[in-house]
Amino acid sequence: MTIGKSRKLTLGPKASVEQIAKLRAAGLRPTRQRLGLAAILFGPKDRHVSAEKLHEQASAAGIRVSLATVYNTLHQFTELGLLRELSVDGIRTHFDTNLADHHHFYCEEDGELIDIEDGSLFVGGIPQPPEGTKQKCIDVIVRVSRR
Ligand SMILES: [Zn+2]
Repeated sequence: MTIGKSRKLTLGPKASVEQIAKLRAAGLRPTRQRLGLAAILFGPKDRHVSAEKLHEQASAAGIRVSLATVYNTLHQFTELGLLRELSVDGIRTHFDTNLADHHHFYCEEDGELIDIEDGSLFVGGIPQPPEGTKQKCIDVIVRVSRR
C-alpha cells in the first residue's frame, strides 16, 4: 500500500452553514446526500437542472447518490419551496433555484434553460381568467436553436 501525495479523497463539495440552515428551516434532516445535492444546487448563481443532470454533477463531485434519491430530493426541495419546477418539453422536468417570477429561453437541442433578463420581456393582452379562476403566474418560454 502506498500513501502518496497523489492519493486524494474526494468528499464532494461542502455544504455551507446557510445551506444546512435552509434545510433545517424547511424541516428536512440535513443528511449527507441532501447536503451534497444542496451544495451543488444552492451556490452563488441560480441554476436549472434535471434529475439526470444533477445526478451526473453529483457523481462528478464524488457524491454517491442514486438517481431515484436525486429525483426524490428535488421533489422534496420543490414541495418545501426551495426550488421551482418547470415543465418545458414534456420529456423531463427541470428545476430552477430562482424562485422569482421570470421567463426562459429554452434550447431544444440540449435542453438548456437560460433566464430571460428581468424587464426585457413584456406580456400584454392577457384575457380575463375563466369564471371561478384567477391568474397565478405567466411563464413564457422562448424556444431557440443553436446556430
Ligand atoms: Zn430560471
